[in-house]
Amino acid sequence: MTDGAVTRTRVGIVGAGPAGLMLSHLHHRAGIDAVNVDNRTRHEIETTVRAGILEADSVRLLTETDVSDRVLREGHAHEGIALRFAGESHRIDFQALVGESVWLYPQTDVFTDLADARARDGGDVRFGISDTRLIDLTGDRPAIRFTDADGAAHEVRCDVVVGADGSHSMCRQQVPETHRRLFAKEYPFAWFGFLVEAPPSAPELVYTHSDRGFALISQRTASMQRMYFQCEPDEDVAAWSDDRVWTEMQSRVAGPDGFVLREGPISDQAVLRFRSLVCEPMRHGNLLLAGDAAHTVPPTGAKGLNLALADVRVLATCLERALDDGDPDALDRYGLLALDRVWRTQHFSYWMTQMLHSLPGGDHFDRRRQVAELRSVVDSTAGATYLAEGYTGWPRG
Ligand SMILES: Cc1cc2nc3c(=O)[nH]c(=O)nc-3n(C[C@H](O)[C@H](O)[C@H](O)COP(=O)(O)OP(=O)(O)OC[C@H]3O[C@@H](n4cnc5c(N)ncnc54)[C@H](O)[C@@H]3O)c2cc1C
Repeated sequence: MTDGAVTRTRVGIVGAGPAGLMLSHLHHRAGIDAVNVDNRTRHEIETTVRAGILEADSVRLLTETDVSDRVLREGHAHEGIALRFAGESHRIDFQALVGESVWLYPQTDVFTDLADARARDGGDVRFGISDTRLIDLTGDRPAIRFTDADGAAHEVRCDVVVGADGSHSMCRQQVPETHRRLFAKEYPFAWFGFLVEAPPSAPELVYTHSDRGFALISQRTASMQRMYFQCEPDEDVAAWSDDRVWTEMQSRVAGPDGFVLREGPISDQAVLRFRSLVCEPMRHGNLLLAGDAAHTVPPTGAKGLNLALADVRVLATCLERALDDGDPDALDRYGLLALDRVWRTQHFSYWMTQMLHSLPGGDHFDRRRQVAELRSVVDSTAGATYLAEGYTGWPRG
């Protein structure tokens, strides 16, 4: 309900990324009012290239809750990935190992589907706001104050605030240091990511270990591909001409099997620094954290977007119990339930990262050991099954 500069709702959500929008969508289906605010415009979010791989359960969440079935028409099911090392590719067959697939479907499309579903259902989503502030988080009148897109001051009064505002979360900062613990790991490398106008070089993602560092070959469409290579965290994008990028990429994937990347004009170059982070607990008073605001993972396991969606699936149920049924413990149960998956995912992403990247200061011993680890994964049904389970996503439980 809007009354001048004040809107009253039950759940005020900072962030209209995948976590924030999916949460308000699930609340709508349960008859719970929610408002999202986001300091970017819809166009800005829609045009920022990010994740590309959806776990099977993320796809089911989109389709079974009636967000959209576009993912089934325009996405591509991938039944495996290749691990490439010592110049040869080894396929991990997800369908044969665990009977699941992942879906290639860009995060920008996930966002568009969610934003369209919110608009279709009359959802209240305020894009392009600024000066977000939270008040009274431990009292009984929590609120989000902000300046709306037209420059007017506004307040959303609610029962609970959800911080779904991404990895640099302002909401996380509102939890006093004495009440939270941050578990963090920095990595001494980054990814140089770019788009390529060319046909796919491989039918599925290729995760490459090489003496020159990691490279990832991924796909987007029949004529546009996304690729990454390991670089220094402070790498200067301007220092990389297309020729230099292709020489580096081709040398990382080269091998006796003659695998060669299909080259084309390069665009959207960016250095992606990453780290592992978990904030515990995920609740402070009437503030709950979800998605990247509560945890970030390195991109190697393709998990960030999926984990954000898994969080809000649990959070929606816990909030329903707390708000509709008056269950006093439901808000605390959210973190306890979500953190189990969060830490498994942290381990999986860390494991993939350490196994595939060149470690600074690493020597021949380290590289030989990594290759032995990769061989143990691809040559062992148990090893390959663990990777397949983690990559396609553990069952909800
Ligand atoms: C290059 C790249 C590749 C990736 N690849 C993958 C992948 O293959 N698979 C995968 O699963 N994940 C991947 N990820 C991670 C994935 O993109 C994130 O985990 C995901 O976006 C998390 O969703 P979220 O809703 O929690 O946060 P976000 O998508 O970051 O959304 C947070 C929203 O909050 C808004 N916001 C921030 N601060 C404020 C504020 N103060 N007031 C109001 N609004 C605010 C932001 O504008 C943003 O729209 C990748 C990430 C990057 C950068």
